[in-house]
Amino acid sequence: MGLDITWAVDWVRRSADVIAEHRVELITLDREIGDGDHGENMDRGFQAVLPKLDDLPAGSTPGDVLKLVATTLISTVGGAAGPLYGTAYLKGAVAAGGAVSLDGPAIAKILEAARDGVVTRGKAEPGDKTMIDAWTPAVDAAAHAATSGADAAGVLDAAAAAAEAGAVATEPLVARKGRASYLGERSAGHRDPGAESSALLLRAAADVAQA
Ligand code: ADP
Ligand code: MG
Ligand code: MG
Repeated sequence: MGLDITWAVDWVRRSADVIAEHRVELITLDREIGDGDHGENMDRGFQAVLPKLDDLPAGSTPGDVLKLVATTLISTVGGAAGPLYGTAYLKGAVAAGGAVSLDGPAIAKILEAARDGVVTRGKAEPGDKTMIDAWTPAVDAAAHAATSGADAAGVLDAAAAAAEAGAVATEPLVARKGRASYLGERSAGHRDPGAESSALLLRAAADVAQA
């Protein structure tokens, strides 16, 4: 079954809940290798989207929701993650187009467009210890699942599992992009906060799709 506007709105609500629940964890991760604000930044951004969901006009599409998240995150999150996530949701919105319902291949295409947007903006490569290390395995797993005939929920589940593994796999890496790169070798031994938040958001998307 395809994912529609109800899924998109529920995903944003679940995202706000999950980020709020993990706020301190994300702050702690960012305190180890950054400036300790990632949880606060993301929580501020998602809380700011919530009231705007009620103003979505009738007939809005999942792409409209992604665009609303993009513009809100760009204007409220700040730091490195604000523009990067903003770009991800914006490129995802473009890929979603005006579709009313998103099937497995559409979800895979949206995730790929989102990841490509982050790469274009932030220039990180896999292994640089950034959110890209969650996104890239997620995009690959999503493409594989979609090609194998998984439905939209199955594609998101594959993406979320790969993102979670990708976030864990950032722990031994030495950061080469973002604030954590200032620490050089001392950045090893800590999980990247942006990779962790990316995994949380993709898991929220998958959980809402299963419901
Ligand atoms: P800041 O570092 O400005 O305080 P945040 O703490 O909100 O911003 O976000 C930090 C996260 O942003 C990092 O954990 C990393 O995942 C991500 N990040 C930073 N720079 C880049 C980049 N160039 N490309 C992709 N992701 C990046
Ligand atoms: Mg920070
Ligand atoms: Mg900061």
